[in-house]
Amino acid sequence: MPKHYNIPIFIPELACPFRCVFCNQRKISGHISIPSPDNILKIVNNHLATFTHESRNVDIAFFGGNFTGIPLQEQEQYLRLVEPFVLSHQVQGIRISTRPDYINEQVLDLLRRYHVTTIELGAQSFDDEVLRKSYRGHNALQTEKASRLILESGFHLGLQMMIGLPGDSLQAALHTASRIVALGATSTRIYPTVVINQTALHQWYEEGKYQPLSLDEAIRWTAHLLPVFEAADIDILRVGLHQSEGLVLGKELIAGPFHPQFRELVLSHIWRNQLEKATESLEVSRFEIHIAPGQINYAVGHKKSNKLWLDSRYNTRFIEDKQLAGQEFRIEAVR
Ligand code: SF4
Repeated sequence: MPKHYNIPIFIPELACPFRCVFCNQRKISGHISIPSPDNILKIVNNHLATFTHESRNVDIAFFGGNFTGIPLQEQEQYLRLVEPFVLSHQVQGIRISTRPDYINEQVLDLLRRYHVTTIELGAQSFDDEVLRKSYRGHNALQTEKASRLILESGFHLGLQMMIGLPGDSLQAALHTASRIVALGATSTRIYPTVVINQTALHQWYEEGKYQPLSLDEAIRWTAHLLPVFEAADIDILRVGLHQSEGLVLGKELIAGPFHPQFRELVLSHIWRNQLEKATESLEVSRFEIHIAPGQINYAVGHKKSNKLWLDSRYNTRFIEDKQLAGQEFRIEAVR
């Protein structure tokens, strides 16, 4: 299996006309400059020089929220600049992230001509009330239409979602996940909403009009969402904000469920639920829990929380078992 690498290039959307309540792009825009062509080439070459796997799959990823919101001519300049890397087979594809309401046939034609393979849409929610309260400026139907157009045009589709936006609920989040699956996305990202300095959410938070999810709630909600995507074989590219992408400049977080190991906390929570269920009717108190390779840390839990919980009730031992795969596990009594 070839190793996958992304080469991220951040294109800030300086003139974004929207006012999404969670976004501080005005503030970000003041601090992040548009990378020059030389800079972009340097970024790509520097990354390529660090890749060690012979068998690899490399994407150049234009991130920044709204790639197709910039004038067509500028989009073309960026794409033309990196085209030689694709033609020389140093890079296998290009991915961009954008808004659902900035997808049309003209844009898709351009992206196809320049080897873009994946388009990620910031869907955020498929609940119109949540979108309206978050001042996203588009509705769920627009995301549905854009998704279909992207797939019909032969691109891979990524759909990102946020949880805990104003008006959101676990039920609405599950509805969003089920629409992402039904629309045929190949990948997703799940971002818990956090309150960033100098945003509308920040003001609402100060005024007591908005309360972000607690870390526990965000973990619990996400633990419901992951299995939906896993069952549909959708690539979950990110769970939780990365310090460098959501908390731009690193000092902007006011409140909300941010944790650098958010994904691990969620996986640990999923294992805790499974182990509770599997052990509740056990009639033995000494047993071994056989776990598939790669899952043992999550089964043991963040800071060994699941193991400590089991140890307070039973005499248990975790054993890695190569005959198991994914989240399969087996409990064997020890006599
Ligand atoms: S999230 Fe994207 S669309 Fe919304 S205000 Fe920020 S940059 Fe603009």
